[in-house]
Amino acid sequence: MKKIFYIFLALTFPFVGMAQDLAPCGTVQTEEDLKELRAFQKAYYNGEIDYERDNVLKYIPVMLHQIRKANGSGGMLFGDLIDRLCLANEQYAGSNSDIMFTWDGIRVHQNDAWYDSHDNFIYNQKVPNKVNVFVANHANGACGFYTPPANNQTSDYVFIAKSCLQDWNITLAHELGHLLGLPHNFSGWEGTEYNCNTSAPVWAEKFDGSNCSTAGDGFCDTPPDYISDRWDCNSNDQSNCVLRDANGDTGNAPGTFYMCYSNDDCSSTSGGFSNDQVAAMQNHISSIRGNISFTNPTWSDIMDDATVLQSPINEEQLEYNNWIRFEFDPVPNATHYLVEIATTPIFNIVPDYFLTTETVIDHYKKLLDNKTYYWRVRPMNRGNFCTNYTSQNGSFVTSAVSAVTDVAGLQAFSVFPNPAPENSNVQVKISLKDAIDVQIQLLSIDGKVVQNEKRFLNAGHNDMILNTDNLESGMYFLSLQTKDGVTTEKIIIE
Ligand SMILES: [Zn+2]
Repeated sequence: MKKIFYIFLALTFPFVGMAQDLAPCGTVQTEEDLKELRAFQKAYYNGEIDYERDNVLKYIPVMLHQIRKANGSGGMLFGDLIDRLCLANEQYAGSNSDIMFTWDGIRVHQNDAWYDSHDNFIYNQKVPNKVNVFVANHANGACGFYTPPANNQTSDYVFIAKSCLQDWNITLAHELGHLLGLPHNFSGWEGTEYNCNTSAPVWAEKFDGSNCSTAGDGFCDTPPDYISDRWDCNSNDQSNCVLRDANGDTGNAPGTFYMCYSNDDCSSTSGGFSNDQVAAMQNHISSIRGNISFTNPTWSDIMDDATVLQSPINEEQLEYNNWIRFEFDPVPNATHYLVEIATTPIFNIVPDYFLTTETVIDHYKKLLDNKTYYWRVRPMNRGNFCTNYTSQNGSFVTSAVSAVTDVAGLQAFSVFPNPAPENSNVQVKISLKDAIDVQIQLLSIDGKVVQNEKRFLNAGHNDMILNTDNLESGMYFLSLQTKDGVTTEKIIIE
């Protein structure tokens, strides 16, 4: 009981933003990685290609990956993750990019090592033909990074520290910019400290426009930027540091670009990418991402304000503290529903949440005793995920009793060993007064059915084996359901 209580606490601690203390980005791009971009820039600025925007919206499918601690705590709330993808779309729309990222799902990974640092083997978790975005507690000391080159199977994903995905941020837009082929505005200065007001080398981009296509980011519509450390901007959203080029001309770096290292609040939803940066991303999509991008929506609009909750809605007293049946009306065109369960009616403390495709859900989760909980639903689909939650919240009050004894004729239900090691055989003992048909389900902490089996069990003792191969460590619920009721046992896989 105590242990569960602490898990809830860990999930609900307010997160202290520390984005500005981290290096903005850990992406390392070589000239080899930028080869395709350089060829495009050369042809573009030499007039060798007659580039014209087709003004057709390109959709790029994104798979989000939430990395949690092994005990299931610490992951960034699904709702917040999805909201950050919405923000990235606003930022891309604000530059008239004709690029929109779709939400193709969230995968959950429970792994302490992955949660606290980046592990190269994470690439095994990538979903093919999607842009994969992993969000963990840390990203190797940076806010995030993209792993080029795009044609290497073990790379080509984005990894982000969750502290850099709070409210207004540009980390996701920035790393997706790298993924779509863009370098930093100050490209070439990485690892080199520029001393303000000192003459830059002759190769560097100059304020009269010379070197613009050969130095820095190679774009002629982004002004010189020599600053490769995080910097704060003045009231004009420019660097306080004065840049001096080899001609002696001076200026300040603009902080509004998503691909520079200014603090996030120097930028806004408009003008984060220059026209030429957008042209390069468009070129990258057609030449490199043609296999995953698409132009025809596969979804229809969702009327999110039409969501109606059915049950429980009015602080109904539940019989149990570890099993709830949620019911709400289907929402036309929604393929998924995000259900959030909070301890406050304003949903600032959300100890439990899950994604579902159903509208009647038997949810197994140990909740606090005799406590009022609130729940709400957000209908979504691939292209409509910046939707609203139900305007009206449902609510219920838990009991002090766990649902463990309400299957008629059940005399014993036990699991051994518990906690159980990974890749082992767990013994499940069930003693029954009478022979009966049972459905046995293993559920993950977020209510997903991991294993499902129907059995006819004899009167007396029944021994079963639960194999934990391929189960990630964490908390699970083993549910035993008969025509008379349901009972659950908590299992910890270590
Ligand atoms: Zn970067």
